[in-house]
Amino acid sequence: MPVDPRPHTTAPNDGTPNGADPRRSVPRTDAVLADPALRDARERLGRPLVKAAVTSAQQRVRTGEIAPDELVTAVLAALPEHATTLRPVLNATGVLLHTNLGRAPLSPAARDALTAAAGCADVEYDLATGRRGPRGAGALTALRDACPPGADVQIVNNNAAALTLAATALAAGREIIVSRGELVEIGDGFRLPDLLTATGARLREVGTTNRTTAADYADAVGPDTGFVLKVHPSNFTIKGFTYAPPVNELAALGVPLIVDIGSGLLAPHPALPDEPDARTALRDGAHLVTASADKLLGGPQAGLIVGDPALTARLRRHPLYRALRVDKLTLAALEATLRGPLPPVRAMLDADPDALRRRAETLAAALPLPDVRVTATTALVGGGGAPGVPLPSHAVSLPAAAEPALRAARVIGRLDHDRLLLDLRSLHPDDDETLRDTVTNALATPAGAHADANAPTPAERPAPGPPALPEEGN
Ligand SMILES: *Cc1c(COP(=O)(O)O)cnc(C)c1O
Repeated sequence: MPVDPRPHTTAPNDGTPNGADPRRSVPRTDAVLADPALRDARERLGRPLVKAAVTSAQQRVRTGEIAPDELVTAVLAALPEHATTLRPVLNATGVLLHTNLGRAPLSPAARDALTAAAGCADVEYDLATGRRGPRGAGALTALRDACPPGADVQIVNNNAAALTLAATALAAGREIIVSRGELVEIGDGFRLPDLLTATGARLREVGTTNRTTAADYADAVGPDTGFVLKVHPSNFTIKGFTYAPPVNELAALGVPLIVDIGSGLLAPHPALPDEPDARTALRDGAHLVTASADKLLGGPQAGLIVGDPALTARLRRHPLYRALRVDKLTLAALEATLRGPLPPVRAMLDADPDALRRRAETLAAALPLPDVRVTATTALVGGGGAPGVPLPSHAVSLPAAAEPALRAARVIGRLDHDRLLLDLRSLHPDDDETLRDTVTNALATPAGAHADANAPTPAERPAPGPPALPEEGN
């Protein structure tokens, strides 16, 4: 972008040498904002964001850090890429669903759908009749079509919202029967028992941490029972002397059974034999199943509610539904995830370990750096899915000292002792070249210094030190 080389000073020419009183030579805000070199940025980002960059660059002139005629260049260098502070990152952590990194990356079809729905869209309008239409009918039908015949569906903000709605509509002022082994913390301090009791339902805890039998549940069923809840322990495993009754035994207790499967698998997946799925839970008699759409389904954040039509209708009619319903963007992306090509998460899950090794070797060979190796690794589903299921993978291994520079370039890897691993399992193959170029640029300059205009400003450049790593929980 051409930069106007003229000094943008409006200070009176009183013969003061430049720098004698920097305040007097600070170019005025209006004059800088009117600079043609900033016109594109004003249109793309809006005046307030450009003005904020101008204000901080003016401060740098005042302190003498930059000269007045460097101000526009400094503004251009400091401008954010987008009008949002959310920035895309390359997930090379080896954790497929990383809650800190936005969980499932959307398929190209879902991204297209987001753009198509971003303007005005027929989300509640029937183009054929010109009348009001059922909201999100396309997404609801796509979800229904992906579920066993006879099941009806609802879509809310996330799985926590699905559980909140179910507890409020079916058990407020009554009891939810749940095993002591399934009172889980979802992540970030959110605990399922707190969420459920916040609705006005009471928890009736049964069994023990490691063993709960069908008889424990049966003994607790009574006139106050709203429903029995079975929760998939999706972010931890308990091994050893354990027991939890199967879905079909809980379904026979004579009260509604809700199964929170967590990860959003609508049907069994061969690589994850122990991960519960909606089809199997419904076949075994669950009355409702709840799940997250941004876990193994590979879609946008949403809560899926699937099962008995009379129960889903009760949830739909409850006043709280309106507060938990999803927007047109989610509906669009979810429908495209369900109807379109397999989302990236499924390709990552199904990736062949040999292909991952070849990708790592290609990347390592292309990096003009010393001390680059290829190493076998174990990747994880993460984000509340298939805990303890190892996914064989390969990574490019670099010295750990590369971590801050790569993080500044938005390549997120995994530290393993003195090495930084860039695991190929959590990265879509289409991103391999971007990864190669980004790593090369970030590490080719001394100490990972960034010469390009998109580099973070010193204030936002991540500090060295303990990096964000695959989080626990979800
Ligand atoms: C992830 C998870 C939740 C929370 O789902 P969100 O979509 O993040 O609200 C609830 N229950 C289980 C079992 C989970 O794995």
